[in-house]
Amino acid sequence: MTARLLLATANKKKLVELQRILDLALGTGGIELVGLGEFPDYPDVPETGLTFGENALIKAREGASRTGLPTVADDSGLAVDALNGMPGVFSARWSGAHGEDQANLDLVLAQIGDVPDEHRGGSFVCAAALVLPNGREHLVEGKQPGRILRSRRGTGGFGYDPIFLGDGQNRTNAELSPAEKDAISHRGKAFRELSKVIAKELPR
Ligand code: IMP
Repeated sequence: MTARLLLATANKKKLVELQRILDLALGTGGIELVGLGEFPDYPDVPETGLTFGENALIKAREGASRTGLPTVADDSGLAVDALNGMPGVFSARWSGAHGEDQANLDLVLAQIGDVPDEHRGGSFVCAAALVLPNGREHLVEGKQPGRILRSRRGTGGFGYDPIFLGDGQNRTNAELSPAEKDAISHRGKAFRELSKVIAKELPR
């Protein structure tokens, strides 16, 4: 039997990424992942939490109660040490309500322009939640520690990837292949951790 699991996102790249990780962890075909694209009337759920975990749970609870499906949701962003962990949950809208990746990145670079190299640490963080229709909840977190460069390098990835050099790396996240990034990224770590929980919780 194939279990259906909702990933509460309209982002097709995240669907592909989680499906790839689930297939690796649980074997191909065990879980059928569906996205919000299958629910045309699904409302925009405001991310009102102050932590990644709160936002992931808000989105996963909403998905499970609206669809009756076990639901996974994630929330992620960049936490810069010199900005006391910001942009954090505001990563997508740092330069305004409709913040674009480029403008968000430029704003962070400008804000920490005077910060010396030794204080330019930061992490990508991802919280991933699983909420079951029976109310059971699980929350995991993945981190990629690193530091913020002074200018962009690389054209891959998205968001803040071109200015983020992961610990132990000599290429920015925007210079890594998708598979290389998955292996060390905050989201890759969180999704792999959550796939263990999914394996236990979802009868197949
Ligand atoms: P989301 O919650 O996963 O949609 O991510 C929120 C924001 O965090 C994105 O718009 C990006 O600005 C930033 N972000 C999250 N993950 C990454 C990543 O892997 N690379 C670069 N930026 C990221």
